[in-house]
Amino acid sequence: MNTTAFSPQVPAGPGSHRLLRSRRRARHRPSATQQAGGGAGPASPPAATSLIPETLEELESDSELQLLHARIQQEGQAALTREEQRRRQRSLEALGVQPFGAVLQGAGVSPLVRRPTTVLQLNIGLYCNQACRHCHVESSPMRTEMMSHEVAERCVQLMEEAAASNDSGSRLTVDLTGGAPELTPQFRYLVTEARRLGHEVIDRCNLTVLLEPGQEDLVGFLAEHSVRVVASMPCYSAANVDKQRGGGVFTRSIAGLQALNAAGYGVPGSGLLLDLVYNPGGVFLAPPQAQLEPVYKQELLEQFGIVFNSLLCLNNMPIKRWADHLVKEGKLEEYMQLLVDSFNPAAAEGIMCRDTISVGWDGRLYDCDFNQQLELGLPKASLRTVFDLKSLQELTGQRIAVDSHCFGCTAGAGSSCQGATE
Ligand code: SF4
Ligand code: SF4
Repeated sequence: MNTTAFSPQVPAGPGSHRLLRSRRRARHRPSATQQAGGGAGPASPPAATSLIPETLEELESDSELQLLHARIQQEGQAALTREEQRRRQRSLEALGVQPFGAVLQGAGVSPLVRRPTTVLQLNIGLYCNQACRHCHVESSPMRTEMMSHEVAERCVQLMEEAAASNDSGSRLTVDLTGGAPELTPQFRYLVTEARRLGHEVIDRCNLTVLLEPGQEDLVGFLAEHSVRVVASMPCYSAANVDKQRGGGVFTRSIAGLQALNAAGYGVPGSGLLLDLVYNPGGVFLAPPQAQLEPVYKQELLEQFGIVFNSLLCLNNMPIKRWADHLVKEGKLEEYMQLLVDSFNPAAAEGIMCRDTISVGWDGRLYDCDFNQQLELGLPKASLRTVFDLKSLQELTGQRIAVDSHCFGCTAGAGSSCQGATE
């Protein structure tokens, strides 16, 4: 991404008028009442038609994704995941690189064991109204996997047990992700219960979901429960965002951000946190957060009147759709080389799997969301699902499952769901 030259395009289509209106407002800072988080209260996002038909149309015309879906049908997801793993491994062997665990050991990084769990990350479903090119969970409107109420209830019991304990994990961060987590039936139940128990809740929001029919009250619901919104926004340029996330996504994302701001999100003093997530649009690493955040803040404020709290910079993990794309472009080895050459021991100390447990839509346990997508479970065979756990404390001291993809977390300033790890 070019972070210095900014020339957003106004996409043609039904949403364009909204973007133009927002540009006319662009030079105005939030009002004093908005700054204090008071005034009009949570506002609904502008009414809009669903993005899903456009996403499905794009999926149908995308030969790369069509081919992938056909292969999943014929060979099964597990076979493709194994092949992907072998490819990464071969790339590292060609580069003469030792396994990830050995590299960490050689660099004097702390052993790969779990510390007390403070983050409970729940992937509550793979259904999404978008189908982004870099999506490591391969979500789309065609995915139907969603968490059952039984599994969600068990997760709430684990939250209850944590809240009742006096250890460092008594106040968890419950990190809700997907797919588009808001479009799954268990989302509001999990938010309500986690907040009742005093845990922090993160909604990993793709922004366009705020404009989906039926979600008109979503911004108000999030604000009412003081949910921290962490929203994908890989660039402040329409062309770059739409290229990575689908046609029309940028316009809708801007409208979603404006609706969040109107409810007080990202506004100083409101207590409603709005963080944005950047990931690279090509074969390069995320720039330092401290460098990119002021540029984002200035561009979004000047162009659209948008404010937010922090920018989290993530690297693209060499798995799933991004790995397929790299293979197609003949750039997998180049990317693995970049990750390995950029290995940073300080970033490796902060890898998120040390204090995060990731739960799949079916209740299975993983050290992180990436391992979940690769079906790389916890090393301890008796800990398969949330029903095998008496409490999250049981996880402390357990070994972490790592593999070749882990170099994505330790490159540059490091990369995790909370941004840089250094
Ligand atoms: S919005 Fe998120 S979950 Fe949905 S397709 Fe894009 S990256 Fe995947
Ligand atoms: S991919 Fe997962 S297991 Fe590997 S280093 Fe990153 S967070 Fe840890």
